[in-house]
Amino acid sequence: MTETVISLANVFKHYNQVPVVNNLSLSIERGEMFGLLGPNGAGKSTTIRMLTTLTNPSQGEISVANYDVVKQAQQVKRHIGVVLQQISVDADLTVWENMEYHGRLHHIPDADRSKRIDRYLEYVELIDRSTDMVKTLSGGMKRRLQIARALLHEPEILFLDEPTVGLDPQTRRRLWEIIRNLKTQGMTILLTTHYMEEAEFLCDRVGIMDAGQLIETGTPQDLRHKYGLALVITQKSDQKMDYQFFPTLEQATAHLDAQPDKRGMMVRDSHLEDIFVELTGRQLD
Ligand code: ADP
Repeated sequence: MTETVISLANVFKHYNQVPVVNNLSLSIERGEMFGLLGPNGAGKSTTIRMLTTLTNPSQGEISVANYDVVKQAQQVKRHIGVVLQQISVDADLTVWENMEYHGRLHHIPDADRSKRIDRYLEYVELIDRSTDMVKTLSGGMKRRLQIARALLHEPEILFLDEPTVGLDPQTRRRLWEIIRNLKTQGMTILLTTHYMEEAEFLCDRVGIMDAGQLIETGTPQDLRHKYGLALVITQKSDQKMDYQFFPTLEQATAHLDAQPDKRGMMVRDSHLEDIFVELTGRQLD
Protein backbone atom coordinates (compact mmCIF):
# COMPACT_ATOMS: atom_id res chain seq x y z
CA MET A 1 0.00 0.00 0.00
CA THR A 2 1.40 3.35 -0.96
CA GLU A 3 0.62 6.42 1.06
CA THR A 4 1.11 9.96 -0.21
CA VAL A 5 3.00 12.05 2.33
CA ILE A 6 3.87 15.08 0.20
CA SER A 7 1.34 16.51 -2.19
CA LEU A 8 1.25 19.68 -4.27
CA ALA A 9 -1.87 20.46 -6.29
CA ASN A 10 -1.78 23.26 -8.87
CA VAL A 11 0.69 25.31 -6.87
CA PHE A 12 1.79 28.78 -7.94
CA LYS A 13 4.25 31.20 -6.37
CA HIS A 14 4.42 34.70 -7.78
CA TYR A 15 7.13 37.27 -7.15
CA ASN A 16 6.28 40.65 -8.65
CA GLN A 17 3.51 39.03 -10.69
CA VAL A 18 6.01 36.60 -12.22
CA PRO A 19 5.17 32.91 -11.57
CA VAL A 20 8.46 31.37 -10.37
CA VAL A 21 6.49 28.20 -9.55
CA ASN A 22 3.89 27.74 -12.23
CA ASN A 23 1.06 25.22 -11.72
CA LEU A 24 3.09 22.51 -10.02
CA SER A 25 1.38 19.24 -9.10
CA LEU A 26 3.29 16.33 -7.58
CA SER A 27 2.79 13.47 -5.11
CA ILE A 28 5.52 11.71 -3.17
CA GLU A 29 4.95 8.40 -1.38
CA ARG A 30 6.08 7.39 2.08
CA GLY A 31 9.61 5.97 2.00
CA GLU A 32 10.38 7.44 -1.40
CA MET A 33 13.58 9.34 -2.21
CA PHE A 34 12.59 12.00 -4.72
CA GLY A 35 15.06 14.28 -6.49
CA LEU A 36 14.03 17.67 -7.80
CA LEU A 37 16.37 18.63 -10.62
CA GLY A 38 16.57 21.77 -12.69
CA PRO A 39 18.83 24.58 -13.86
CA ASN A 40 19.42 27.66 -11.70
CA GLY A 41 16.29 29.72 -11.30
CA ALA A 42 13.96 26.79 -12.12
CA GLY A 43 12.07 27.25 -8.83
CA LYS A 44 13.46 24.31 -6.81
CA SER A 45 14.39 26.30 -3.70
CA THR A 46 11.10 28.18 -3.78
CA THR A 47 9.29 24.83 -3.91
CA ILE A 48 11.27 23.54 -0.91
CA ARG A 49 10.60 26.79 0.95
CA MET A 50 6.86 26.34 0.43
CA LEU A 51 6.96 22.66 1.45
CA THR A 52 8.83 23.55 4.64
CA THR A 53 6.46 26.43 5.56
CA LEU A 54 9.11 29.16 5.05
CA THR A 55 6.97 30.88 2.44
CA ASN A 56 3.29 30.49 1.49
CA PRO A 57 2.11 29.47 -1.96
CA SER A 58 0.30 32.25 -3.87
CA GLN A 59 -2.25 29.68 -5.03
CA GLY A 60 -2.87 25.92 -4.78
CA GLU A 61 -2.79 23.30 -2.04
CA ILE A 62 0.24 21.75 -0.38
CA SER A 63 0.11 19.03 2.25
CA VAL A 64 3.09 17.52 4.04
CA ALA A 65 2.69 14.58 6.44
CA ASN A 66 -1.07 15.05 5.91
CA TYR A 67 -1.04 18.62 7.23
CA ASP A 68 -1.73 21.79 5.27
CA VAL A 69 1.45 23.89 5.05
CA VAL A 70 -0.46 27.16 5.45
CA LYS A 71 -3.19 26.29 7.95
CA GLN A 72 -1.21 23.73 9.98
CA ALA A 73 2.34 25.01 9.69
CA GLN A 74 3.28 24.10 13.28
CA GLN A 75 2.26 20.46 12.82
CA VAL A 76 4.14 20.32 9.51
CA LYS A 77 7.29 21.65 11.22
CA ARG A 78 7.10 18.96 13.88
CA HIS A 79 7.11 16.21 11.26
CA ILE A 80 9.88 17.45 8.97
CA GLY A 81 13.64 17.89 9.11
CA VAL A 82 15.22 20.54 6.91
CA VAL A 83 18.77 20.98 5.62
CA LEU A 84 19.05 24.13 3.56
CA GLN A 85 21.84 25.14 1.22
CA GLN A 86 23.40 27.84 3.33
CA ILE A 87 25.20 26.41 6.35
CA SER A 88 22.88 27.33 9.20
CA VAL A 89 24.73 25.89 12.17
CA ASP A 90 26.07 28.38 14.73
CA ALA A 91 29.85 28.62 14.27
CA ASP A 92 30.52 30.01 17.75
CA LEU A 93 28.88 27.11 19.58
CA THR A 94 30.25 23.62 20.02
CA VAL A 95 28.85 20.68 18.08
CA TRP A 96 27.02 19.51 21.21
CA GLU A 97 25.66 22.98 22.00
CA ASN A 98 24.22 23.27 18.49
CA MET A 99 22.35 20.01 18.98
CA GLU A 100 21.27 20.98 22.49
CA TYR A 101 19.90 24.31 21.28
CA HIS A 102 17.90 22.64 18.52
CA GLY A 103 16.63 19.99 20.95
CA ARG A 104 15.34 22.69 23.31
CA LEU A 105 13.69 24.55 20.43
CA HIS A 106 11.80 21.36 19.68
CA HIS A 107 10.92 20.79 23.36
CA ILE A 108 12.59 17.39 23.49
CA PRO A 109 12.40 16.40 27.18
CA ASP A 110 15.69 16.58 29.16
CA ALA A 111 15.82 12.84 29.83
CA ASP A 112 15.61 11.97 26.17
CA ARG A 113 17.58 14.87 24.72
CA SER A 114 21.14 13.86 25.64
CA LYS A 115 20.59 10.29 24.50
CA ARG A 116 19.23 11.44 21.17
CA ILE A 117 22.07 13.93 20.69
CA ASP A 118 24.57 11.11 21.26
CA ARG A 119 22.69 8.80 18.94
CA TYR A 120 22.56 11.22 16.00
CA LEU A 121 26.10 12.54 16.45
CA GLU A 122 27.24 8.92 16.40
CA TYR A 123 25.13 8.28 13.34
CA VAL A 124 26.89 11.01 11.34
CA GLU A 125 30.26 10.10 12.93
CA LEU A 126 30.75 13.38 14.78
CA ILE A 127 30.55 12.14 18.35
CA ASP A 128 34.31 12.58 18.88
CA ARG A 129 33.96 16.24 17.84
CA SER A 130 31.18 17.01 20.37
CA THR A 131 33.15 19.60 22.33
CA ASP A 132 34.76 21.27 19.30
CA MET A 133 33.59 24.64 18.09
CA VAL A 134 31.62 24.38 14.85
CA LYS A 135 33.93 26.90 13.18
CA THR A 136 36.77 24.36 13.39
CA LEU A 137 34.84 21.75 11.35
CA SER A 138 35.32 21.09 7.62
CA GLY A 139 32.50 21.79 5.16
CA GLY A 140 31.53 18.11 5.04
CA MET A 141 31.44 17.86 8.84
CA LYS A 142 29.23 20.95 9.07
CA ARG A 143 26.85 19.37 6.58
CA ARG A 144 26.78 16.16 8.64
CA LEU A 145 26.04 18.21 11.75
CA GLN A 146 23.14 19.86 9.91
CA ILE A 147 21.79 16.42 9.07
CA ALA A 148 22.18 15.18 12.68
CA ARG A 149 20.36 18.27 13.87
CA ALA A 150 17.57 17.84 11.33
CA LEU A 151 17.06 14.27 12.63
CA LEU A 152 17.03 15.13 16.33
CA HIS A 153 13.27 15.60 16.64
CA GLU A 154 12.81 12.35 14.67
CA PRO A 155 10.96 13.69 11.63
CA GLU A 156 9.21 11.43 9.16
CA ILE A 157 10.19 13.52 6.13
CA LEU A 158 13.55 15.08 5.37
CA PHE A 159 14.17 17.96 2.96
CA LEU A 160 17.70 18.37 1.65
CA ASP A 161 18.45 21.40 -0.54
CA GLU A 162 21.65 20.69 -2.52
CA PRO A 163 23.08 18.53 0.28
CA THR A 164 26.53 18.02 -1.25
CA VAL A 165 27.12 21.27 -3.14
CA GLY A 166 30.71 22.45 -2.92
CA LEU A 167 32.00 19.26 -1.27
CA ASP A 168 34.83 17.15 -2.65
CA PRO A 169 33.90 13.81 -4.28
CA GLN A 170 35.03 11.68 -1.33
CA THR A 171 33.05 13.73 1.21
CA ARG A 172 30.09 13.68 -1.14
CA ARG A 173 30.14 9.86 -1.30
CA ARG A 174 30.23 9.65 2.48
CA LEU A 175 27.14 11.86 2.68
CA TRP A 176 25.45 9.74 0.04
CA GLU A 177 25.90 6.67 2.23
CA ILE A 178 24.40 8.51 5.21
CA ILE A 179 21.43 9.68 3.13
CA ARG A 180 20.89 6.25 1.59
CA ASN A 181 21.00 4.67 5.02
CA LEU A 182 18.20 6.99 6.18
CA LYS A 183 16.11 5.85 3.27
CA THR A 184 16.59 2.19 4.15
CA GLN A 185 15.27 3.06 7.60
CA GLY A 186 12.03 4.24 5.97
CA MET A 187 12.54 8.01 5.84
CA THR A 188 10.82 9.91 3.03
CA ILE A 189 13.35 12.27 1.47
CA LEU A 190 13.00 15.12 -1.01
CA LEU A 191 16.27 16.55 -2.23
CA THR A 192 17.34 19.05 -4.82
CA THR A 193 20.58 18.63 -6.65
CA HIS A 194 22.65 19.90 -9.53
CA TYR A 195 24.59 16.67 -9.70
CA MET A 196 23.02 14.13 -12.01
CA GLU A 197 25.20 11.29 -10.72
CA GLU A 198 23.92 12.14 -7.24
CA ALA A 199 20.32 11.86 -8.48
CA GLU A 200 21.10 8.59 -10.26
CA PHE A 201 22.80 7.15 -7.20
CA LEU A 202 20.24 8.21 -4.59
CA CYS A 203 16.82 8.77 -6.07
CA ASP A 204 13.96 6.35 -6.68
CA ARG A 205 12.33 8.99 -8.82
CA VAL A 206 13.29 12.38 -10.18
CA GLY A 207 11.37 15.41 -11.39
CA ILE A 208 12.94 17.82 -13.86
CA MET A 209 11.87 21.41 -13.32
CA ASP A 210 12.33 24.30 -15.69
CA ALA A 211 10.89 27.81 -15.53
CA GLY A 212 8.65 26.94 -12.57
CA GLN A 213 7.14 23.84 -14.17
CA LEU A 214 7.70 20.15 -13.77
CA ILE A 215 8.49 19.03 -17.29
CA GLU A 216 9.23 15.36 -16.60
CA THR A 217 9.03 12.81 -13.76
CA GLY A 218 10.05 9.18 -13.51
CA THR A 219 12.74 6.83 -12.33
CA PRO A 220 16.14 7.53 -13.92
CA GLN A 221 15.74 4.19 -15.75
CA ASP A 222 12.23 5.09 -17.00
CA LEU A 223 13.56 8.34 -18.41
CA ARG A 224 16.45 6.60 -20.16
CA HIS A 225 14.00 4.11 -21.71
CA LYS A 226 11.68 6.91 -22.76
CA TYR A 227 14.31 9.14 -24.39
CA GLY A 228 16.73 6.45 -25.53
CA LEU A 229 19.33 4.19 -23.95
CA ALA A 230 22.05 5.31 -26.37
CA LEU A 231 23.41 8.40 -28.05
CA VAL A 232 25.25 9.32 -31.19
CA ILE A 233 27.35 12.39 -30.46
CA THR A 234 28.62 14.47 -33.36
CA GLN A 235 31.20 17.18 -32.93
CA LYS A 236 29.89 20.08 -35.04
CA SER A 237 32.55 22.60 -34.10
CA ASP A 238 34.88 23.35 -31.15
CA GLN A 239 31.95 24.50 -29.03
CA LYS A 240 29.04 22.60 -30.44
CA MET A 241 28.12 18.94 -30.06
CA ASP A 242 25.01 17.39 -31.51
CA TYR A 243 23.28 14.67 -29.43
CA GLN A 244 20.93 12.20 -31.07
CA PHE A 245 19.07 9.65 -28.94
CA PHE A 246 18.44 6.03 -30.04
CA PRO A 247 16.34 3.34 -28.31
CA THR A 248 19.29 0.92 -28.09
CA LEU A 249 23.06 0.88 -28.42
CA GLU A 250 22.69 -1.42 -31.47
CA GLN A 251 20.53 1.13 -33.28
CA ALA A 252 22.92 3.95 -32.41
CA THR A 253 25.85 1.89 -33.70
CA ALA A 254 23.96 0.98 -36.90
CA HIS A 255 23.28 4.69 -37.47
CA LEU A 256 26.97 5.49 -37.05
CA ASP A 257 28.01 2.62 -39.33
CA ALA A 258 25.74 3.94 -42.07
CA GLN A 259 27.50 7.33 -42.14
CA PRO A 260 29.93 7.84 -45.04
CA ASP A 261 32.03 10.22 -42.90
CA LYS A 262 32.33 9.16 -39.27
CA ARG A 263 34.82 11.83 -38.20
CA GLY A 264 33.89 13.53 -34.93
CA MET A 265 31.17 10.96 -34.19
CA MET A 266 30.86 8.54 -31.28
CA VAL A 267 28.33 6.24 -29.65
CA ARG A 268 27.74 5.75 -25.94
CA ASP A 269 25.07 4.85 -23.35
CA SER A 270 22.83 7.75 -22.35
CA HIS A 271 22.88 9.21 -18.83
CA LEU A 272 20.32 11.18 -16.88
CA GLU A 273 22.45 14.25 -17.56
CA ASP A 274 21.93 13.89 -21.34
CA ILE A 275 18.16 13.83 -20.83
CA PHE A 276 18.40 16.85 -18.56
CA VAL A 277 20.32 18.80 -21.22
CA GLU A 278 17.91 17.64 -23.94
CA LEU A 279 14.88 18.81 -21.93
CA THR A 280 16.16 22.06 -20.48
CA GLY A 281 18.54 22.98 -23.27
CA ARG A 282 21.08 23.79 -20.62
CA GLN A 283 24.44 22.40 -19.73
CA LEU A 284 25.06 21.90 -16.01
CA ASP A 285 27.87 23.76 -14.32
P1 ADP B 1 16.36 27.35 -8.03
O1 ADP B 1 16.38 26.90 -6.61
O2 ADP B 1 15.80 26.33 -8.97
O3 ADP B 1 17.68 27.87 -8.51
P2 ADP B 1 14.74 29.53 -7.02
O4 ADP B 1 13.52 28.92 -6.46
O5 ADP B 1 15.81 29.94 -6.08
O6 ADP B 1 15.32 28.57 -8.15
O7 ADP B 1 14.34 30.81 -7.86
C1 ADP B 1 13.35 30.82 -8.89
C2 ADP B 1 13.15 32.24 -9.39
O8 ADP B 1 12.50 33.00 -8.38
C3 ADP B 1 14.44 32.97 -9.69
O9 ADP B 1 14.26 33.71 -10.87
C4 ADP B 1 14.63 33.87 -8.50
O10 ADP B 1 15.31 35.04 -8.86
C5 ADP B 1 13.20 34.17 -8.09
N1 ADP B 1 13.06 34.42 -6.63
C6 ADP B 1 13.32 33.53 -5.65
N2 ADP B 1 13.07 34.07 -4.45
C7 ADP B 1 12.63 35.35 -4.67
C8 ADP B 1 12.21 36.42 -3.82
N3 ADP B 1 12.19 36.30 -2.48
N4 ADP B 1 11.83 37.57 -4.42
C9 ADP B 1 11.83 37.71 -5.77
N5 ADP B 1 12.22 36.73 -6.61
C10 ADP B 1 12.62 35.56 -6.08
